[in-house]
Amino acid sequence: MGTKHVYDFEEGNKDMKNVLGGKGANLAEMTGMGIPVPPGFTITTEACVYYSKNGEYPPGLAEEIEEHLATLEKKMGKKLGDSEDPLLVSVRSGARASMPGMMDTVLNLGLNDKSVEGLAAKTGNPRFAYDSYRRFAAMYGDVVLGLKPESKEERDPFDVLLDAKKEAAGVELDNELTADDLKDLVGQFKAEIKRRKGTDFTQDPKEQLKGAILAVFDSWDNDRAVTYRRMNNIPSDWGTAVNVQAMVFGNIGETSGTGVGFTRNPAAGENLVFGEFLMNAQGEDVVAGIRTPLPLEQLHDELPEAYDELMRIRNVLEEHYRDMQDFEFTIQEKKLWMLQTRNGKRTGFAAVKIAVDMEKEGLITPEEAVSRVEPEGLNDLLRPVFNPVEKAKAGKEGRMIATGTKAGPGAATGQVVFFAEDAHERKTEDPSAQLLLVRHETSPEDIKGMAAAEGFLTQFGGATSHAALVARQMGKVCIVGCAALDLDYEARIVRIKSDSKVHEVKEGDWLSIDGTAGEVYLGKIETLPSEVEQVLLQNTLKPGDSEVFQDFVTFLGWADNIRKINIRTNADTPGQSEQAIAFGAEGIGLCRTEHMFFGGDRILAVRQMILAQDEAGRRVALDKLFPMQKEDFIGIFRVMGERPVTIRLLDPPLHEFLPHTEQDILAVANECSMSVSDIEERNRRLKEANPMLGHRGCRLGITYPEIYEMQVKAVIEAACQVKSEGIDVKPEIMIPLVGSAREMQVTREMAVSAADEVIASKGVKLAYMVGTMIELPRACVVADQIAENAEFFSFGTNDLTQTTFGISRDDVRGFLPTYIEKDIYEVDPFQRLDQEGVGDLMKLAVERGRSTRENIKLGICGEHGGEPISVKFCHRIGLNYVSCSPFRVPIARLAAAQAALEDNQ
Ligand code: PEP
Ligand code: MG
Repeated sequence: MGTKHVYDFEEGNKDMKNVLGGKGANLAEMTGMGIPVPPGFTITTEACVYYSKNGEYPPGLAEEIEEHLATLEKKMGKKLGDSEDPLLVSVRSGARASMPGMMDTVLNLGLNDKSVEGLAAKTGNPRFAYDSYRRFAAMYGDVVLGLKPESKEERDPFDVLLDAKKEAAGVELDNELTADDLKDLVGQFKAEIKRRKGTDFTQDPKEQLKGAILAVFDSWDNDRAVTYRRMNNIPSDWGTAVNVQAMVFGNIGETSGTGVGFTRNPAAGENLVFGEFLMNAQGEDVVAGIRTPLPLEQLHDELPEAYDELMRIRNVLEEHYRDMQDFEFTIQEKKLWMLQTRNGKRTGFAAVKIAVDMEKEGLITPEEAVSRVEPEGLNDLLRPVFNPVEKAKAGKEGRMIATGTKAGPGAATGQVVFFAEDAHERKTEDPSAQLLLVRHETSPEDIKGMAAAEGFLTQFGGATSHAALVARQMGKVCIVGCAALDLDYEARIVRIKSDSKVHEVKEGDWLSIDGTAGEVYLGKIETLPSEVEQVLLQNTLKPGDSEVFQDFVTFLGWADNIRKINIRTNADTPGQSEQAIAFGAEGIGLCRTEHMFFGGDRILAVRQMILAQDEAGRRVALDKLFPMQKEDFIGIFRVMGERPVTIRLLDPPLHEFLPHTEQDILAVANECSMSVSDIEERNRRLKEANPMLGHRGCRLGITYPEIYEMQVKAVIEAACQVKSEGIDVKPEIMIPLVGSAREMQVTREMAVSAADEVIASKGVKLAYMVGTMIELPRACVVADQIAENAEFFSFGTNDLTQTTFGISRDDVRGFLPTYIEKDIYEVDPFQRLDQEGVGDLMKLAVERGRSTRENIKLGICGEHGGEPISVKFCHRIGLNYVSCSPFRVPIARLAAAQAALEDNQ
């Protein structure tokens, strides 16, 4: 037998996601668990991959579909397209990884002019039959025949006809249309298809089925799916499975309905079922935001038995999957059917709370809890809230003008845009733009523009609408179902009704939304740090008063027990060091001393040093700088205590410090007793064509040894002083931009001699280390030689990326967006470490460094040290620590723990 391409739901299970996709695997699993699932079969992802490559079904697929369809018909006792009692099916996509709403679905397939009559007669409900038919015709027209709006201002052509019909009939809602209205609408839909596509809407059910299957295969490569895959690192060669399933109907009357839900709250994480439903409606109505759905608790009043059954199944699912589930259901004449379950997407807030709660409930272990939270999701716990004073003031001024459903927590303020495309363009032009996307509802096409906005505000839809789902996933602030909005896309105005007033908000005006409270405010409102920050950094909130903070601490405590590598921080001041310790940093991996040079009146002394004609002149300036540097280091050592502190000697090209404005030049001229024209002349001479490849790093230390000498002495004197206060400080002196063994040897000798002189004169016992940054490809290659004089390596992957790719870290904007778009670079290599190129060089350096010095200490201090995927790579290649900015320390702690857990898989 050849490859099997089709599986009945009875044949699969939840572990077959690669073949059956997530939806198919879980439908099979639920079938196996005895949960009521309408029967059906799944066409494999492999069949889709074959089709994508060859443009046709793989051999044998057509026959297999025939066979499984026949089995389904037998089970249901109905035939597809039958003119008396037709079987109707849904055809749905379902990839390995969930890609909500990105691909296509067709419902009610199998209806035609004859079978619709059969359905009407059999159910005695012509209204239902024609409602199903009009839905099918519209979906088929859209998905299979590609009848979409032709411009961004245009609406869906079928929606336009539907609205006209409702108006003509004098009704507001779809479910108020009569059978005749709907029948008429089907005719109009078919005519529209003929008019636009020149083809008839097919009456042959088998042809309908093949068309729908191919359309779902094709939807794997539609623009929004491609964008989504890129954003979520889903490989393009996975393909989607296709699920063909017997229809159950939520639109059959008032004892039927459909809904979606989560076993726990996906926004805040409380252990309470959360969801929405609509009576007498079909699948997509709930998420499409056409009618505003009701909260799930109300189902209890409408259909108590179905509600109880749903609650029973909710518990069964949570116990079985041991994770929060996102489910879909339909009730057909009081009988509940489950149509989907999967691990639910959630905010970072909810992820941490659910993980901590489930551990307490004994459902999962701390290790499982740690593996369940996306490291970037921790940002949610560090997310801003509105300044309460400003917010209260805005309230008093009557600027709180509307409320809606809370769908993504946090506070956002931004300029209004009405089209996702515009948001994307504006953000590309000006990355600092703060935008708020305001729409009737959003759809998967809007994904790129949604990424560009701070938050979304929609008129329609509930907490499970597209905008809400995407907000949670992207970690955006979001309010949906804000009925007070009245949007005029053409005029680019939203009118917001508030009591008796109507506020007109134009494109570009500021609005603020509180996604935690569901409130909309006119104008801009200052935002404030999160609860975690208020407890840890501002001390304005007591730990005991913040549940979010307590969960945060418990959760990261587990991560710390699991991780193998250390987490340090990049900090240049005592204040930053304090912040980082509060977030859990175990040392400083990079203190950039040049940042200290800009403080207070130091810059004048720095300039004097640079402009000096000779060593004697430089020493005069350095003597002024010495006490200031020493004080800086004392401050940092006191805060850091016994934690290691890596201090990098001066790195940037000198001209970065030179005076450029007339006023600055004059001040330096006075201080150095030089003329303005002399200074301008020195400026010109110090100018370099490629300063990042110029007179910087250890090259400075070698040409002007007195600079490094002063810095080393300042570090060591500070360390001696703090040590004599009883703190066992651990200074580590780091030489930047080393590319050869001799550079390392010479600078080390210099550093050691200066340090030992200080130690001897102070009579203090002090251990210190000297090491280097690894920032050049050559340094990686000769790492064995460099290691002879370096006790540690710290990978400066900002420069190492720049020098390996041969691209400037300051000038990538010109081509990088195009490179990403065209898939030339998968991601920005300055954000996520390029494991293949830069990473391989790192591996080489690790191996060669260790071959000389077995116990060499290895770390990373480039920006990648706080990016989760890069952190995991650093763990795998055997670094001892990663170092990142204070706010990313929690993220790195979690990523490092997950890396350790992944070792065991
Ligand atoms: C680096 O190059 O990765 C680094 C940390 O140094 P800087 O960013 O200061 O050049
Ligand atoms: Mg560098």
